[in-house]
Amino acid sequence: MHCGLCLDNCPTYRALGTEMDSPRGRIYQMLQVDEGRLALGDSFVTHIDRCLGCLNCQTACPSGVQYGHLLETTRAQIEQSYQRPRLQRKLREHFYAHVLPSFGKLSRSAKWLRFYQRSGLQSLARATGLLKAMGVAELDELSPRIESDFSFRDLGKVFPAEGERRGRVALLIGCVSSVAFAELNRATIRVLTKNGIEVCIPEAQSCCGALHAHAGYLDLARVQARKNIDAISKISPEFDAVVSNAAGCGAAMKEYGVLLEHDAKYAERAREFVTKVRDVTEYLAEVGLREPKRKLKARVTYSDPCHLAHAQGIRKQPRALLKAIGAEVIEMPRADSCCGSAGVYNVVQNEISMKILDEKMDFVAMVEPEIVVTANVGCMLQLSAGTKRRGLHAEVKHVIELLDQAY
Ligand code: SF4
Ligand code: SF4
Repeated sequence: MHCGLCLDNCPTYRALGTEMDSPRGRIYQMLQVDEGRLALGDSFVTHIDRCLGCLNCQTACPSGVQYGHLLETTRAQIEQSYQRPRLQRKLREHFYAHVLPSFGKLSRSAKWLRFYQRSGLQSLARATGLLKAMGVAELDELSPRIESDFSFRDLGKVFPAEGERRGRVALLIGCVSSVAFAELNRATIRVLTKNGIEVCIPEAQSCCGALHAHAGYLDLARVQARKNIDAISKISPEFDAVVSNAAGCGAAMKEYGVLLEHDAKYAERAREFVTKVRDVTEYLAEVGLREPKRKLKARVTYSDPCHLAHAQGIRKQPRALLKAIGAEVIEMPRADSCCGSAGVYNVVQNEISMKILDEKMDFVAMVEPEIVVTANVGCMLQLSAGTKRRGLHAEVKHVIELLDQAY
């Protein structure tokens, strides 16, 4: 099919206006490469690298084209057959193969970044215009603020339910989230336990593998998937759910069945694991909220994270939770359009990402919210940068942070 109904929903097509940067154009190029009529070279890689993997096109497609799987397979093919420039290759390998999979290395890298942020070096670099001169001022603005206390200290702990126990879950704390959103993880534990849910933090858990899969490192993503399946199965008794507060991690874990389908030892276990995975908003909507202590009297707008709306089909639950705590939820136009964050996309494709963000902020500005709410850590950073760029006074919050305030 070449209907093109996906084009208007594709953020890179809207930003760049070129067919080769649209879903239809990218699928066409994939077919050409597959048939040997187009080289797997610089041009092809550029157009595939520019894709956010946001899956807005998959939702729009009336023919059910599974673009996400096409993209991941293509990216894996690129990593196997295409020579990226040496420095880029080394940096990618170091980040994906060594830093992300190791909570220890991630923690050490985060401490260096925290030192830069808090020692005055960052303020100095900003004030002197050094970052602007180096062309990295926007990247600096997008880098997450590293917290004092990382979530890793909670590995292996169990947080008891308050009042009558209504459920038992395993919580995935995430790699980047553990150093930059540890307070959000703690808020997630508080909201769950206040709602009568016992929360276990499996000690042997690891990064979910989402960033690896999106970058084309499918084998590394499989290693992460196996680690998490093992980590959960070590703990008994059984869980009702494996919960994540990051849309990208939840979506990746729901794909473990496909990722490990040819693994004789793990295929069955992966399928079982997937049946338990829930986004925290999905899980809370399922069990039902207890009456909060106070109502949130604020005008909010909800920005759907792509990996929640388009990858997991979760749209109603976060809105229902916000309404349940008294928020006035105002719908912005195209609430489920991508904000341009997409893992490390806003860093490696900064210019396109900022164009996409600026359009998103047009939609946000139209409804003049007091708070922009989302349900993914990457989107929170991007939207915060967007409100600053646009000069909006709205705060940016995760659904869970508002629930935490209400309790
Ligand atoms: S995944 Fe997103 S950026 Fe990529 S083609 Fe689809 S809509 Fe466009
Ligand atoms: S991906 Fe789907 S919506 Fe896009 S051109 Fe092909 S058939 Fe049409």
